[in-house]
Amino acid sequence: MKKNYSLFSAPEKVVFCKKCIISNQRPNSTIEFASKNTFKKETIDFNQNGICSACEYNEIKENKINWNAREKELTDLCNKHRKKNGYDVIVPSSGGKDSGYVAHMLKYEFGMNPLTVTWAPHLYTEIGWKNLQDFINIGGFDNILFTPNGKLHRYLTSLAFKNLLHPFQPFIIGQKIVGPLMALKFNVPLVMYGENNGEYGNKIQDNYKPKMDNIFFSNQDINKIYLGGKSITSILKDTKFKPNDFAPYIPPKIEEFKKKKVEVHYFSYYKKWDPQESYYYAFTNTGFKPNTERTSGTYSKYSSIDDKIDDFHYYTTYVKFGLGRASYDAAQEIRCGKITREEGLSLVKKYDHEFPKKHFKNFLEYINIKEDEFWKIVDNYRSPHLWENKNKEWKIKHTVFEKKA
Ligand SMILES: [Zn+2]
Repeated sequence: MKKNYSLFSAPEKVVFCKKCIISNQRPNSTIEFASKNTFKKETIDFNQNGICSACEYNEIKENKINWNAREKELTDLCNKHRKKNGYDVIVPSSGGKDSGYVAHMLKYEFGMNPLTVTWAPHLYTEIGWKNLQDFINIGGFDNILFTPNGKLHRYLTSLAFKNLLHPFQPFIIGQKIVGPLMALKFNVPLVMYGENNGEYGNKIQDNYKPKMDNIFFSNQDINKIYLGGKSITSILKDTKFKPNDFAPYIPPKIEEFKKKKVEVHYFSYYKKWDPQESYYYAFTNTGFKPNTERTSGTYSKYSSIDDKIDDFHYYTTYVKFGLGRASYDAAQEIRCGKITREEGLSLVKKYDHEFPKKHFKNFLEYINIKEDEFWKIVDNYRSPHLWENKNKEWKIKHTVFEKKA
């Protein structure tokens, strides 16, 4: 049997944060453009007291940042870019609670004229579609819904599942491009995202220097753009897709943004980010509704509910990193003081491992594989330092709620 090694270069010794419940297996950044062979990742930082960087940043948010001064900075930024005619800010938006909050604040509190831009989910849920429509009709926004070529997007999602066990990778890439791309097309000087990933455990300094991802937006070489773990060049060789089909996945050049003076900012730099408060705000102002039932793998009803494939994004994080959707939700809610760590532990115990049965058939059809192949691929990504197979059953070795002897 294999030894106790880590498949994705995450630390072999699993440690859980003493304040929240996230573990040191959490990847730091998304694996944009990763090939099958460069599939390794940085993981979240822990300080010498066993506290994760997301909790450390939360302390800073609570005690060290002058939020009034930050709001003044936001006013200045808006004053700099506000237009009398035309759009003055792009808000990449799913129609969910967070972007609903950001777009509505910018429009109605800061007097901006946002163009909201949506990269369509793989498969809309009923509630997700309704929330987007209500965002437009009740919130009062112009919106561009960009739906990529489904034949290609399905193919790429399937590759990403097989090659990286990361079915969301092509979606993440497209979503990252579409906002800035529309800023160029519509001559809009400002792009405002919601929260920075530093909120959840990327480098703390990411929260201070909101700017464009220069590395990402410097890559236009189809030999070096890997989608689903495979370069565009090799996909072209193996399929009937044409180079033009890949346009939505190729980032515009950083020089184009400089030429047009497009700036990218994060709302979480200016206003203290709290997803629950975004939910209440969007519920009140943009017609946002939670789901009628909780999401598979967790206890929440209102986070990321627009895509049937989303459940499998989190199921794959559970397999790869031992962190399911309840872990992500609970860690964030503990930090925001919405639940205690004890409550978080029991929620993780109850839901983290849950398999998302509801949309399983949709997922298999979407990526065009059979169930036995699905399990073969999934089991292939169970890192030996996280999983053991006993009597033909997979068991996770380290959980935050079980003390190991
Ligand atoms: Zn923590």
